[in-house]
Amino acid sequence: YLFYSDLLPSKDDKDLTQYFLLQVVDILLNYIKKTFDAKSKILDFHHPHQLLEGLDGFNLNLSDHPESLEQILVDCTDTLKYGVKTGHPRYFNQLSSGLDMIGLAGEWLTATANTNMFTYEIAPVFTSMEAILLKKMYEIIGWGEAEADGIFSPGGSISNLYGILVARYKLYPEIKTKGMAALPCIVLFVSEQGHYSVKKAAAVLGIGVHHVIEVKCDERGKMIPDELEKNVLQAKTKGQAPFCVIATAGSTVFGAFDPLHAIADVCEKHKLWMHVDAAWGGGLLLSRKYSYKLSGIERANSVTWNPHKLMGVPLQCSAILIREKGLLEACNQMQAGYLFQPDKLYNVDFDTGDKSIQCGRHVDIFKLWLMWKAKGTCGFEEQINRYMELAKYFYKVLKEKDNFQLVFDAEPEFTNVCFWYLPPRLKYITKGLEREQELHKIAPKIKARMTEEGTAMISYQPCGDKVNFFRMIFSNPATRQTDVDYLIDEMERIGKDL
Ligand SMILES: *Cc1c(COP(=O)(O)O)cnc(C)c1O
Repeated sequence: YLFYSDLLPSKDDKDLTQYFLLQVVDILLNYIKKTFDAKSKILDFHHPHQLLEGLDGFNLNLSDHPESLEQILVDCTDTLKYGVKTGHPRYFNQLSSGLDMIGLAGEWLTATANTNMFTYEIAPVFTSMEAILLKKMYEIIGWGEAEADGIFSPGGSISNLYGILVARYKLYPEIKTKGMAALPCIVLFVSEQGHYSVKKAAAVLGIGVHHVIEVKCDERGKMIPDELEKNVLQAKTKGQAPFCVIATAGSTVFGAFDPLHAIADVCEKHKLWMHVDAAWGGGLLLSRKYSYKLSGIERANSVTWNPHKLMGVPLQCSAILIREKGLLEACNQMQAGYLFQPDKLYNVDFDTGDKSIQCGRHVDIFKLWLMWKAKGTCGFEEQINRYMELAKYFYKVLKEKDNFQLVFDAEPEFTNVCFWYLPPRLKYITKGLEREQELHKIAPKIKARMTEEGTAMISYQPCGDKVNFFRMIFSNPATRQTDVDYLIDEMERIGKDL
């Protein structure tokens, strides 16, 4: 048997490190081949107690003694074996999906470099790449020549938190030293279809969830600007201090785009910070055909954009972009003398650590940079346009079937398509409480069967007065039209007896 101690840096007399790593590559290649084979299962489902108790040769418990490298390789194989193949062509469960070969190579290299984004000193190449990419993103948003600012963060929720944090600091810089007691009762606005991370940020920042005012949406799930203005005026009448509006560009469930120009008008009139949560929809800016859906984003003060969603970059990769330079640093700077020595020999502008709310920061930039190099902007555009076409195709097929019902009877705005499956016994009943109660139970049952059989994965949820419906989304580069047809057949197969 071989052991950990036979590998570099301790020993490597017989090229054991190479042997071991090549074995790992073999395991990955096997997994990758299975992932892209539509006929293979997306997952080999097990209940939590089964995993915790241990499966055939796969034991999650840790021991005091080292296990052999042979066992470690088996553990690597099994870890992938019992997981979910999020790159599988029939994986539609989450907005982040897919398995990109260049992104994967980027992650390997990043892990090998194992450095930290906080200073130029220890990440000269990566901090420079981040500056280049942020600049590209400002340009794409349309912030022109003005110097903007930004940072990559651990996900869209954290990027939204940054947006709200900086918005509050801009209006009330004393928050940093004196805390919330020095401020009036501040409130912010987001649509009722906005992402829950806005409320989470309000809780974390001490603003309070009750001070997040949910603005009504129209029938397609877009914020109604008149309602926003009404809510702002109401808050002022109550003695509250509105400071920020979160517009959503690509809502998580419906894929709706808030009307950004009209929202920007309200923000300008009432001197409110405008943050656009384009975590999901941001990638659409790369499509010349569809970027108009985010028209007005250039008027935002800050933007959240997750390349790990529509652009298919491996998790995690999210940016917070802020139009006014300097705010991010002023808001978060603590000038830790042991890290950010101002008398360093090189230009300390490339130190990113004092803009961040973290200390150490993972390198999320390289995989995105490498994918951009390998695909070009056009490559992303092509891929994203294809998702939009697939969504339209899916919508058209469902529209023609009487055992499916669309949540919105109109062409999809984005790659989200929301629908119900109607088993034969419900097909001809068009309304009534009982029908709704029965319909509510269908999606979880179909989902459970598909998950247990590992044939396809798709998400469902209730929303407002709508009982459980499925949310189809396209953000997986492996998905083809045949996989869409398969999903429909599979739902009919499982659902017909429900
Ligand atoms: C996914 C999503 C987020 C959160 O992003 P994470 O990276 O999962 O934290 C925020 N807003 C919207 C609209 C999203 O769809």
